[in-house]
Amino acid sequence: MGGTFDPVHYGHLVTAEEAYWQYDLDEVLFVPTGQPWMKRDMDVSPAEDRYLMTVIATSSNPHFRVSRLEIDREGPTYTVETLRALREEFGEEAEFFFITGADAILEIFHWKDPDEALSLAHFIAATRPGYDLARFEADGASHHPRVSVMNIPALAISSTDVRERVAKGRPIRYLVPEGVKAYIEKAGLYR
Ligand code: ATP
Ligand code: MG
Repeated sequence: MGGTFDPVHYGHLVTAEEAYWQYDLDEVLFVPTGQPWMKRDMDVSPAEDRYLMTVIATSSNPHFRVSRLEIDREGPTYTVETLRALREEFGEEAEFFFITGADAILEIFHWKDPDEALSLAHFIAATRPGYDLARFEADGASHHPRVSVMNIPALAISSTDVRERVAKGRPIRYLVPEGVKAYIEKAGLYR
């Protein structure tokens, strides 16, 4: 599961756990982005903070792991490069599922080498509140044999909202794990 994770929240964790269960996965690997090229004009927190928050949020789950693959890489990383690196590491027999929100999946077809990405992994698009699935259906991306839609219990949580809440002094308890909330306060993020 790739993401900016700025910060990681319960929407991400519920999505990952549901994919783990619905697709009978061995584990879920969270891959925080390095300097994300699609968000390069926006302020993104340091990769190390985003990585640590993701480690904290996933530490109690034995089948969740966090990868430094993208954050340790210089310059922008393309998902297809990450998938290639994982293929190298895990070998030909491994089967990969790339977990995304339905809002993010449309971007896949505008990625670098979408065909190669689709040959390297199966793509799971999780439903997300506020996102119109009709747009996704209309795109044709949803009809690709390597793309499937996964229904998850609706969680209208976004990192953007969490950041805005911190900036305004509004509560974020129960939107992010306690440890992530503590880390945000300790590091002084989003103020
Ligand atoms: P931002 O508001 O900064 O864009 P975000 O909440 O969308 O943050 P990302 O790090 O961009 O979080 O998301 C990583 C992945 O998780 C994306 O594929 C996104 O669609 C998915 N995702 C995020 N929040 C949810 C949610 N509440 N339900 C389902 N999927 C989600
Ligand atoms: Mg997003």
